[in-house]
Amino acid sequence: MIKLRDVSKWYGHFQVLHDVSLDVRKGERVVICGPSGSGKSTLIRCINRLEEHQKGEIIVNGIEMTDNVKNIEKIRRNIGMVFQSFNLFPHLNVLDNLTIGPMLVRHMKKKDAEELAMQFLEKVRIPEQAQKYPLQLSGGQQQRVAIARSLCMQPEIMLFDEPTSALDPEMIKEVLDTMIELADSGMTMICVTHEMGFARTVADNVILMADGKTVESGTPEEFFGNPKNPRTRLFLEQIL
Ligand code: ADP
Ligand code: MG
Repeated sequence: MIKLRDVSKWYGHFQVLHDVSLDVRKGERVVICGPSGSGKSTLIRCINRLEEHQKGEIIVNGIEMTDNVKNIEKIRRNIGMVFQSFNLFPHLNVLDNLTIGPMLVRHMKKKDAEELAMQFLEKVRIPEQAQKYPLQLSGGQQQRVAIARSLCMQPEIMLFDEPTSALDPEMIKEVLDTMIELADSGMTMICVTHEMGFARTVADNVILMADGKTVESGTPEEFFGNPKNPRTRLFLEQIL
């Protein structure tokens, strides 16, 4: 579903990604971890062209990510993204945050969009918050709204960039539980996270990035039990 071949990217003279290759099959869950500044956000932002790569290939659902605007739109329509900062529209209530995308992009009727939105609010377990504004919600609730909003666009792939890093500890679990349910439903997911419990239980493949390279990749058993790269051991010692 997602194929990266020797992807490299520079910010000016600084090379942020070095020949990164990655394969994600339909329904696969990939967790990417690694030190701050190692290029994790840049990598997943390249997958929906929030950032542009300069070398190598990114192919999503058989479509190559190039400058072709039509292709970029086709790819983006299939990908939902959830950020560390929830990025909800503060002037819209929860329901309107969820319906605006389907109405504008998919030309859904308001009533249908609201029905869809309520389904996903049920899924993330906050249907009773539909009429509230984002700032009236806790961080964990806001992040679940952000996940529901992405799901309303009915993507085939979900990208998460440290979705729990901005949350108070007691709210991390509710967001992880939502992500686990999403994984159980068969969603193809790439998650940048340092929640290693989540990685152990959910991931098919865990990847460590360091200095713009993927330095380790394996099943949770391999990654945690028998890492090949000393940097992985060092990283795990620091965070576990
Ligand atoms: P991570 O998500 O692993 O913390 P990032 O992908 O955010 O890493 O950043 C990787 C490196 O690229 C860092 O050194 C960061 O300072 C640099 N960087 C990120 N975004 C930009 C940008 N827009 N312009 C220049 N440098 C950037
Ligand atoms: Mg980041």
